[in-house]
Amino acid sequence: MAAITMQNIVKKYGDGFPAVNDVSLDVQDGEFMILVGPSGCGKSTLLRMIVGLEDITSGDMRIGDRVVNKVAPRERNLAMVFQNYALYPHLTVYENIAFPLRLAKAENEEVRRRVTETAELLELTEHLERKPANLSGGQRQRVAMGRAIVRDADAFLFDEPLSNLDAKLRGQMRTEIARLQRRLGTTTVYVTHDQTEAMTLGDRVAVLRKGELQQVGSPRELYEQPVNLFVAGFIGSPSMNFLPASVDGTHLETPIGRFDIHDRAKADAVGDREVVLVGIRPEDFEDAALVSEEKKARGAVVRVKVDVTEWLGNEQYAYVPYEAPADLAAQLRELSRELDSDQLRTQAVVALDASSLVAAGDEIDLWIDTGRLHLFDPATGANLT
Ligand code: ATP
Repeated sequence: MAAITMQNIVKKYGDGFPAVNDVSLDVQDGEFMILVGPSGCGKSTLLRMIVGLEDITSGDMRIGDRVVNKVAPRERNLAMVFQNYALYPHLTVYENIAFPLRLAKAENEEVRRRVTETAELLELTEHLERKPANLSGGQRQRVAMGRAIVRDADAFLFDEPLSNLDAKLRGQMRTEIARLQRRLGTTTVYVTHDQTEAMTLGDRVAVLRKGELQQVGSPRELYEQPVNLFVAGFIGSPSMNFLPASVDGTHLETPIGRFDIHDRAKADAVGDREVVLVGIRPEDFEDAALVSEEKKARGAVVRVKVDVTEWLGNEQYAYVPYEAPADLAAQLRELSRELDSDQLRTQAVVALDASSLVAAGDEIDLWIDTGRLHLFDPATGANLT
């Protein structure tokens, strides 16, 4: 096993915009690291540079103590699982899994022992004589994983391995991969654009945007302390609400109501800014009718009109349309470099307890957990809190 160390890695295809721009990232020995970001952010390119399928324009890539920039993929002792599985259709499951061992000229006896063990681990024993065409999507995915883990690779690299599976199977395979990685304890780098996979699988998550690393941290850190608007909006589902607000002393004037920041440190962080973006996660709202007086006092209550509700059994979503004052919206657009259009919504999404009696068309009092507010600088997107 080995740590993977990336130092100021740059990748340029031709002379265009760098696909990966000055990324430094340490994956510790045995760690499960997720690379996540929207399409085109450079995550596959970064993975392909680790494995050696792509040249590095500048920077150093280390596996263990060795700089591998110029080392051929086969000499890096890494195992990669691709999105399309890349199985050999004419070979049986047994021979597909055995393939890396055959390449390494392992003895037949060792091949048999290892393939049998791997098949048992992945519950493929009864399918060993089949061809890939006669397997389900989940089984093919397991064969691809079997081929990766059958030899003692220093690290596993996964490139969106679950994206061809339906939602239910994806959930199942996700747990299987987590279990397998915990059991083997092998350093793993896993690329996905799915924030649920990112949040549930990894020890740590690296968020990329336009080739640049935005933040690296545990899922909880990213969720609770996103460094900027992009990470805040990317992590969490439904995503964080961003309300434009004008600042009046320690008060925020938002399109859903006026309330006190409450928290001294947050008020200080706003400084002399006149406008901020207030980030509130859907679950940091509650139906005020269900909140104790003592708790109410620790947050703010605003009166809003709900136009649509969605009841999901364990919770429900209420949608609160709003209109930002035109001058504020214009000022924000002017100031903001970070806002993608879907992030400056015209409705707030509120996650309420399933027992709330809210119905479409109701005016209700919403409690806001102001202790959990995020305040963003609209000019830089930085989280001030
Ligand atoms: P996706 O999730 O869509 O696969 P990604 O985050 O993995 O996206 P990359 O595939 O790494 O992104 O691509 C990053 C950028 O580099 C994109 O702008 C892409 O168009 C560009 N790119 C990738 N491969 C090449 C190539 N071989 N030649 C030129 N440009 C490329």
